[in-house]
Amino acid sequence: MIEGIAASNGIAIAKAYQLVTPELTYEKKSIDDPNKEVERLEKALDTAKEELEKIRAHTRKEMGDEHAEIFSAHLLVLDDPELVNPIKDKIRNENVIAETALEETTNMFIDMFKNMDNEYMRERAADIQDVAKRVLAHLLGVTIPNPGLIDEEVIVIAKDLTPSDTAQLNREFVQGFATDIGGRTSHSAIMARSLEIPAVVGTKEITDIVQHNDMVIVDGIEGKVILNPSDDELASYKKKQANFDKQKEEWAELKDEPTITADKEQVELAANIGTPDDVASVLANGGEGIGLYRTEFLYMGKSQLPTEDEQYDAYKTVLEQMEDKPVVVRTLDIGGDKELSYLDLPEELNPFLGFRAIRFCLENEDIFRTQLRALLRASAHGNLKIMFPMVATLEEFQQANNILLDEKQNLKDEGISVSDDIEVGIMVEIPSTAVIAKQFAKEVDFFSIGTNDLIQYTMAADRMNERVSYLYQPYHPAILNLISTVIEAAHAEDKWVGMCGEMAGDSIAIPALLGLGLDEFSMSATSILPARTQIRGLSQEKMASCKNKFLSMGTAEEVVEFVKEKTE
Ligand code: PEP
Ligand code: MG
Repeated sequence: MIEGIAASNGIAIAKAYQLVTPELTYEKKSIDDPNKEVERLEKALDTAKEELEKIRAHTRKEMGDEHAEIFSAHLLVLDDPELVNPIKDKIRNENVIAETALEETTNMFIDMFKNMDNEYMRERAADIQDVAKRVLAHLLGVTIPNPGLIDEEVIVIAKDLTPSDTAQLNREFVQGFATDIGGRTSHSAIMARSLEIPAVVGTKEITDIVQHNDMVIVDGIEGKVILNPSDDELASYKKKQANFDKQKEEWAELKDEPTITADKEQVELAANIGTPDDVASVLANGGEGIGLYRTEFLYMGKSQLPTEDEQYDAYKTVLEQMEDKPVVVRTLDIGGDKELSYLDLPEELNPFLGFRAIRFCLENEDIFRTQLRALLRASAHGNLKIMFPMVATLEEFQQANNILLDEKQNLKDEGISVSDDIEVGIMVEIPSTAVIAKQFAKEVDFFSIGTNDLIQYTMAADRMNERVSYLYQPYHPAILNLISTVIEAAHAEDKWVGMCGEMAGDSIAIPALLGLGLDEFSMSATSILPARTQIRGLSQEKMASCKNKFLSMGTAEEVVEFVKEKTE
């Protein structure tokens, strides 16, 4: 058994699919028969082409034309005689193997394009690099795995899954996944919950232990992976799987019920989404709103920025489907573990502390304004609220809000209708903002506490690093005190406070958060019904009466014991 962090509920049983890039090394040697090498090259090019066509078709079907575009660009590279002919010439003129000719020629083009002062050409460098890697793999007789090529029931085993890998996973076949790195709040874990597939992350070593095609069980409830289970283990997990399904049916009975505590206090249970496709699951799980729409996914897995119209369509679709229910859209939060390859941003030593989110948007005003215009136009179709991520200072909020007001005026001047009731808030993810929440509360319409980042910045513990995951403590009194400061500051100004970090859906945190007076809990759609079941059994007054006690405790452990005792 391999232990890890339970990242997405449920039990999955299937064959392992190793999504690990193979070593692409080879011995450089000279050859006698250049024609044979050219033939080998042509064969590898053809196989790569077939593979890319498959991936493109799959991506188009699952994620639409826009996302498939990047593979069309790769196919164009493969067909470009200006690239392919010099490789063949090199084989013939220098008597080198196809691998060497491919690498040396493509590296030359990559260096040339990378140094050009033209964004389009720099993007081509990235395309050539990707394509060269694929062709080299075929020359060496190994395959570069791609989640879009999976066509049978599997459990994906990987070092880590990037958000764009996760976005490509085909739900029809991928039953679950397990990774070496990551924590409950890494984006692969968040995506697993929105795809409703069981996942275990942060196992440290699963890619070394599990082989391709091994039989595995992913227990996303307890954070375990069982390799090549015995008949007894298989039978016991099948039972656990059936029990989990039964429990889901019980939760479903509360789908259309309000979220009211035993002492009749009402709170809102909303969902976090990444794409318009996620809305169906929000409604199926009884979500009362969307507390966080992570718009980054509109920008990822593509070869260029989404246009204003594309964004408008996505936002409008979400707003219309949610009817008059609140939809909080977060403006672009790129950086950290969410990269945009086509922007070619320089690598940073500490990306989570670096040039990301609102910092990026305020320096790239054109990208920011395009998003704001799309949002403002969509506001006419539902109950839109806008929030800015990673705000660290009042000036950042004011600057972002002024740009928003400016675009609102521009649209009105153009005769385009924009809602007049859009609330504008911020995410509280940085301790500085939590500490002076009082000053912020006078200027914003609402707060949404992003504990995934707030915890990592307060405890100085990288949310992606399993070696310091013991410090990632949502119940630590330091975190609870910051949350309390934010809620008190907001309520003093009659503003509401939500939480969209993963802590909002955590069954140990929920009673404490109720006691602190949180108004809106936003979580993965699949956590909503268990949370509603739990909240209906809790007394808000009782939890509020012990707030001072748990806020003054010294350790997370004491808080957990205390909350458990009070809710038994
Ligand atoms: C957070 O930081 O809590 C949050 C919701 O944002 P993200 O997980 O996208 O960084
Ligand atoms: Mg965050």
